[in-house]
Amino acid sequence: MKKYFGAHVSASGGVWNAPHNAKEIGAGGFALFTKNQRQWRSAPLTQEAIDAFRRACEECGYTSAMILPHDSYLINLGHPERDGIEKSREAFIDELHRCEQLGLGLLNFHPGSHLGQISVDKCLDRVAESINIALDRTRGVTAVIENTAGQGSNVGFEFEQIAYIIDRVEDKSRVGYCIDTCHAFAAGYDLRTAQACDDTFSKLADAVSLDYLRGFHLNDAMKPLGSKVDRHAPLGEGQIGIEAFRYIASDSRFDGIPIILETPEPERWPAEIAMLYEFAGER
Ligand SMILES: [Zn+2]
Ligand SMILES: [Zn+2]
Repeated sequence: MKKYFGAHVSASGGVWNAPHNAKEIGAGGFALFTKNQRQWRSAPLTQEAIDAFRRACEECGYTSAMILPHDSYLINLGHPERDGIEKSREAFIDELHRCEQLGLGLLNFHPGSHLGQISVDKCLDRVAESINIALDRTRGVTAVIENTAGQGSNVGFEFEQIAYIIDRVEDKSRVGYCIDTCHAFAAGYDLRTAQACDDTFSKLADAVSLDYLRGFHLNDAMKPLGSKVDRHAPLGEGQIGIEAFRYIASDSRFDGIPIILETPEPERWPAEIAMLYEFAGER
């Protein structure tokens, strides 16, 4: 298996349920929250939970290279205020620890928001500093920056902004990025044809080497190109259309990294995953 297509599956009832939920939909990889994503605090992982998760991954055939955990939506590593940033940094370090305990190598996160109080550059500086602090206090896990749609005051919607952050991270071996197709399209990067995909991915490679690419979120977009509005649609049923997903699925530059659906209607994930494997020529 060269391509790790999967979805952001439920871990409700316990993290060890996620690999089984992924297996059930025919996924070759998955994303999960290792804690409740809408709360600041969660009970620490017990040894039993850690063992059960590792056992489930082994049983279902998932290695850490196939898994892209996502952090809490509350965290803002570019927060303009002291209390906000301290709370976020503490929570982010906890998220990295949880990944470390579970034997996972990646943690995907949205870079942050300036909340209209500081400039984009100042916000990006704070994100980079947050990553440096967090990497210094943890081991083994790579911080994976997700591109955003640029909705509200979110930063990280231009590829150059991701490059700006990575440039300022001291340990380059533990930083990378994830491309969300809906977010890229909403931010103004066209993906509607193979030619548009060629152009967008060469823009990306020019801004920040594809060596740092650690994963994808595959989502079609409800809103038009450049809308800055983050609304996911099922593959082929939005403004992007099916061509982009055929392109990504069949491109060998994107082998060996988690490629994760966050599309609405989870009941359609088995069909979407099967279609992607068909595009890749793997099934
Ligand atoms: Zn995403
Ligand atoms: Zn989104």
